[in-house]
Amino acid sequence: MSRGETPLVRDVPDEEDYTYVHRVFLQSFFTHGVLTIDEIKPVLAAIMTAHNPDRPFPEGDVTQSGFITPIIQTINAKLEPYDFEIRHARNQQTKETTYALVNKTSDSMTQLATRFTANEIAYIRRLLDAMFETNNTPTREIMAIKPMDASQLARPRRNRQSQAASMVDEDVQLQAADTGITIGEADAVLDALLADNFLQLSRSKYYSLAPRALMELHSYLKETYNETAEDEDDEPMIRIRDCEGCREIVTFGIRCNNRECGVRWHDRCANQYYSGRSAEGKKCPKCRTVCGGNVYVGERADRVPQRNSSGGGASRDEQMDEDEDEDE
Ligand SMILES: [Zn+2]
Ligand SMILES: [Zn+2]
Repeated sequence: MSRGETPLVRDVPDEEDYTYVHRVFLQSFFTHGVLTIDEIKPVLAAIMTAHNPDRPFPEGDVTQSGFITPIIQTINAKLEPYDFEIRHARNQQTKETTYALVNKTSDSMTQLATRFTANEIAYIRRLLDAMFETNNTPTREIMAIKPMDASQLARPRRNRQSQAASMVDEDVQLQAADTGITIGEADAVLDALLADNFLQLSRSKYYSLAPRALMELHSYLKETYNETAEDEDDEPMIRIRDCEGCREIVTFGIRCNNRECGVRWHDRCANQYYSGRSAEGKKCPKCRTVCGGNVYVGERADRVPQRNSSGGGASRDEQMDEDEDEDE
């Protein structure tokens, strides 16, 4: 805590000083849970201006690295003993940076259990299974679901077997008690998850996990849907992989044109890696296959025929030329 002096006004607050600005900014996270960088800019500008009305603080001065990051570092130092942290991640689809207040000791699944009934939680598990098992096969890594299919999961399929080995026992127990919910109840759960920034709905109408859910659930997802090798002959099923560039989880992006290869990228990370190379020079860093950037992870994998994944320039250009930075 600062020593009761007036907080800094025009300058970036000193990292040691926890001021009015940090306090009010943290409160906006308690209210909203999740804020995109475009939502943060007016909030911080307003806080700075409220503190010193004679000198309005322009939104343009709220830059990510120069302004927001140091403020969040100071807040995180304060939150440390409470096991909370403000984290940020880039939305893989919109490329927008999203900040979320996350609990470091309990993931979203645990927290959802305090807000939904047991049958609703069982529904949310079926939703995740549909996204990460049914709609996520070696040839079609969609990791998303259409709203109508999501509603249809309201009733459990009685003898359905979860392929996730670690969950078999637990699933059997849950299924015994799980009588399902109505489609109306399923839609209400979906709406609540959307409002909570746990799910997002894309322009082409697919539900996928929003940045907040990915920030909180990445270990849960890997533990649940990735297998570990039991013996040497066993090729474990890896359903969820990290980006070759930034090492964050990929649920929307591109994959190596060699189907056997585990390399995955976010569009932007692939762009950065391959920028300036000729088409033949765009070789996978692991298997050296020439990659067209036209084999997708995420909802685009549901639309594109994936029989022959080599070649193809047009779709790559469409996907691989957006590269903007928000720190300007
Ligand atoms: Zn990446
Ligand atoms: Zn490869």
